[in-house]
Amino acid sequence: MPDFDKLCERMVNRQIVARGVHDPRVLQAMRDVRRHEFVDAARQPFAYEDRPLPIGLGQTISQPYIVAWMSELLRIKVGDSVLEIGTGCGYQTAVLAKLASHVYSIELIDALSQQAALNLTRAGATNVSLRVGDGFDGWPEHAPYQCIMTAAAPAEVPGNLTRQLDVGGRLVLPVGERGYQQMTRVTKREDGSLQTEQLGLVAFVPMLRGG
Ligand code: SAH
Repeated sequence: MPDFDKLCERMVNRQIVARGVHDPRVLQAMRDVRRHEFVDAARQPFAYEDRPLPIGLGQTISQPYIVAWMSELLRIKVGDSVLEIGTGCGYQTAVLAKLASHVYSIELIDALSQQAALNLTRAGATNVSLRVGDGFDGWPEHAPYQCIMTAAAPAEVPGNLTRQLDVGGRLVLPVGERGYQQMTRVTKREDGSLQTEQLGLVAFVPMLRGG
């Protein structure tokens, strides 16, 4: 059995701190959430490696650094409510749940959402609500959100997501066509206008349209 605590600590230092993520709350969350518990048994030995891993149905659990970087870019405060698009296996959801008051997470694929529910219960995350649906619609019933993020890339910033963003809120997402996209942060100013920052190239799975 690998020493997962040691692998996790090494992951945080070599992959995340070394690349410039320094928010202490984010680093603590990355230490606290046990990534190997979110992948199947055969992949557990690789769970702390510097890459995405398959989680079935053509989808992947994001690279640890990307999870940490996006969590930092969101500038989550203790009382914040977060909307996540693309629950996947629930790993990023668990990290967000350590940082926010509540996380609402939408996943297109039913089987992944069900697996994520099991993973999150096992991980002890209680401040999380999951739903199967199309993230392009957002989750209007619980809006506005202080933070929104997507784990899959739309070609353009979805209007429903900026509409459901609180004043002063941050939306962090990869934007672009298949292949490479721009990591983007959209901030809603006091007057309701949007400030957009492009932060570098990344490669995500596409955000798909629901049925
Ligand atoms: N953060 C996740 C990464 C999952 S990969 C993790 O840690 O496991 C991206 C996920 O987005 C996939 O599970 C995919 O099914 C989902 N997805 C793609 N398009 C979507 C959409 N329109 N609405 C909701 N989820 C979507």
